[in-house]
Amino acid sequence: TKWVYNFGAEANEGRAGMRNLLGGKGANLAEMASIGLPVPPGFTITTEVCTAFNSAGRQYPTDLQAQVAEALARVEAAVGLTFGDPAKPLLVSVRSGARVSMPGMMDTVLNLGLNDETVRGLVSASGDARFAWDSYRRFIQMFGSVVLGVDHHRFEEIIEQAKIDAGVIEDTALTALQWQEVVEAYQTLVETETGKPFPQSPQDQLWRAIGAVFGSWMNTRAITYRRLHDIPADWGTAVNVQAMVFGNMGADCATGVCFTRDPSTGEDVFYGEFLVNAQGEDVVAGIRTPQPLSAARSKPGEVSMEQALPEAYAELLKVRETLEQHYKDMQDIEFTVQSNKLYMLQTRNGKRTASAALRIAVEMAESGLITRDEALMRVNPAALDQLLHPMLNPDAPRTLLSRGLPASPGAASGIVVFSADEAEMRAQKGEAVILVRVETSPEDIHGMHAARGILTTRGGMTSHAAVVARGMGRPCVSGAGGVAVDYGKQTLSAGGRSVRAGEAITIDGATGEVFIGYVAMIEPKVSGHFGTMMGWADDVRTLKVRSNAETPLDAETAKRFGAEGIGLCRTEHMFFDPERIGAVRQMIMAGDEDGRRLAVEKLLPFQRGDFISLFRIMAGLPVTIRLLDPPLHEFLPHGDQELAEIAGVLGVDFATIQRRAGELSEANPMLGHRGCRLGITYPEIYEMQARAIFEAAIAIAVETGAAPVPEIMIPLVGTPRELEITRKLVDDAAAAVFAVHGRTIEYQVGTMIELPRAALLADKIAKSADFFSFGTNDLTQTVYGLSRDDAGKFLPKYVESGIYDKDPFVTLDRDGVGLLVQMAADKGRATKPGLKLGICGEHGGDPASIAFCQEAGLDYVSCSPYRVPVARLAAAQAAI
Ligand code: ADP
Ligand code: MG
Ligand code: MG
Repeated sequence: TKWVYNFGAEANEGRAGMRNLLGGKGANLAEMASIGLPVPPGFTITTEVCTAFNSAGRQYPTDLQAQVAEALARVEAAVGLTFGDPAKPLLVSVRSGARVSMPGMMDTVLNLGLNDETVRGLVSASGDARFAWDSYRRFIQMFGSVVLGVDHHRFEEIIEQAKIDAGVIEDTALTALQWQEVVEAYQTLVETETGKPFPQSPQDQLWRAIGAVFGSWMNTRAITYRRLHDIPADWGTAVNVQAMVFGNMGADCATGVCFTRDPSTGEDVFYGEFLVNAQGEDVVAGIRTPQPLSAARSKPGEVSMEQALPEAYAELLKVRETLEQHYKDMQDIEFTVQSNKLYMLQTRNGKRTASAALRIAVEMAESGLITRDEALMRVNPAALDQLLHPMLNPDAPRTLLSRGLPASPGAASGIVVFSADEAEMRAQKGEAVILVRVETSPEDIHGMHAARGILTTRGGMTSHAAVVARGMGRPCVSGAGGVAVDYGKQTLSAGGRSVRAGEAITIDGATGEVFIGYVAMIEPKVSGHFGTMMGWADDVRTLKVRSNAETPLDAETAKRFGAEGIGLCRTEHMFFDPERIGAVRQMIMAGDEDGRRLAVEKLLPFQRGDFISLFRIMAGLPVTIRLLDPPLHEFLPHGDQELAEIAGVLGVDFATIQRRAGELSEANPMLGHRGCRLGITYPEIYEMQARAIFEAAIAIAVETGAAPVPEIMIPLVGTPRELEITRKLVDDAAAAVFAVHGRTIEYQVGTMIELPRAALLADKIAKSADFFSFGTNDLTQTVYGLSRDDAGKFLPKYVESGIYDKDPFVTLDRDGVGLLVQMAADKGRATKPGLKLGICGEHGGDPASIAFCQEAGLDYVSCSPYRVPVARLAAAQAAI
């Protein structure tokens, strides 16, 4: 087996398409080198070695050693240096790189190959002793913490002390001699901590670093990250060994990171940060303040790369263009400049906010770089959610506490917590929290996930907090240097004000502002790039998108977001209004049918009014109205005191109401006296609802000249006879209303398919149905025999341990529930070829479930108003 692939120096054995084998970093290094970009030569040890290594008890394949030796010899030949040569040593970096980027998960070791002897070779070869000793101390520090497990703070303490002793502030001000002393102190530290001297053999260093990278695939933070992002453990990571280039060799050297477009807004500007005379992660580590790339973007006091290193900057601009043209996507680039010459060290598709993703996709399609279909596929529908959520109301009063960097857009309010564990714990209790940290690290990911927003006081736009927050869609303000965090006292303070843990703050990730307390928010706008993308989605999708809505506000929101009708109007929501609940309770208490009719009559005008406003808003669009579904006891309060109050209002005695409440109580309400069972035993309720619907439809027909087409939906049907009976109720009500008004309107009667029996008998049920709507919430409950309200006790565990693939209430279970849906759809259409099919469970807004609906041949999905744009895009992707 070939375990090792060379790249760079015209020996590119890999390419971008080989990311499964070479990892993203290795595959793209080879690709960049093959299109002529300046990549220091190196080689990649494949992900297959990682899997083999970890499953064979940390044993390498037997021929690996020989392949590495051969690949290393090619690198030596390419750069004219020899690994371990005391006079002119080749130094390498050892870098991890999985298939998908896992920010900060795996650590890189730079300057490997240095020891007490080769460092002197580097001094004379470079003529720069400060550089050589700085490189050596970096190597010991990285190798010491990553490979030998010495706490990295211990190394930093030594530097801090050295700077105090030398009376300097910046690392770069330390002299060669002072760095040499740091190296000695480091070696003593390593020896006391590990009981052994720092390893001097370069070969030994190399293999131990390689082993550490492969081993780190199994460390806890990597495992957590994989769990959160659904990354299989058997993907493994690759290891890249690459000849070093040096950004820390003086004023004509630098290191930097950049994005080919602005990752926050998507604007087509070059965006990034760099540091002169620095190495590796100095830019993101927050040791010195990074400087901007372009002169146009630099603020007073800043020195841009364009000014400091004009040649390398011009080169970098060309690379930006080349990479975008080549990869046809926004790139996140890492580079180093050594003696004015630019080297590329990494490129990948850049992480971006949802609004940036939209803008970039739309602009790339408009400029012809990608097609519209490609643009549609570029945006994760679930991420649109971010854009549809509230922003700060510009007119709302607010008290500014401080400012940081606008690291990830969106606004969020919540109570302050200072640790990731606390964030997770409180979020589980349903509290909105803002996680406040000096800086974040991979150990904090679970807390960042649980928080509504993140505030850090250190680190730039490319810091860990910023990158991870953008990826997760969490609002984030980073590097708020004016804020002091005191973990011990559990306070944060700025400008003389302080906020304690448990008190509220609001952050605006689009402006970088931090406010004390809560600030009012407003609804987002659906225009610009968003509108363009939605228009393209509408052009290609074949599934219609409707919304679940009862109130005029919901209906209006849904329509603004592009809903093509209402797929589910739950009439019981209309019964809870204080004006109506009295009549509902009177109906429940009535001893006989006459009494019930009397009470139901009182509800009629309210229901009619509700339907009139829905029909008016949805003019010309279909509106599906589900007749009463829940069991009646849901309309009675629990507790004797509340019952006694109602007895008073209704003028019945307490014993009577108590008895009635007792009669109505059910051991298992989900499977009890509800749905059409209610409509069949108390026909006056469905009759009234049907009448209200037809009277409202006629009223709108008269008012606007265009009659709406109501679709009346019967819930919880399990047997054809139930639908026949209830359908007749509705048809009779229609005939009666039409007779009174001397005109008819078109309408449809259909049923929910939400019981397994209904799906099994769908061909027979279809005889009396004009449409089916799959109620996948109840169908999931009844197919699994699983109560949604009780599942919380074990469902997370089931999902975590893989017993269930996904939470079946979030993503439709194709294997079981989906099988029934498909069967019912086919059987229904066998009886009635034109039978209209839709879905109205929570699944109607879930992209993976929408893809299933497309395959199953449904006509529409219906989801909550805020998810309508998500569904429109997901439906387009399902159709492409
Ligand atoms: P990560 O996956 O955390 O980004 P990398 O492997 O990309 O880690 O390494 C981090 C940084 O180390 C790079 O951005 C680059 O600045 C520096 N680096 C890595 N390899 C080399 C090299 N061969 N020469 C110079 N710098 C390097
Ligand atoms: Mg990197
Ligand atoms: Mg239901």
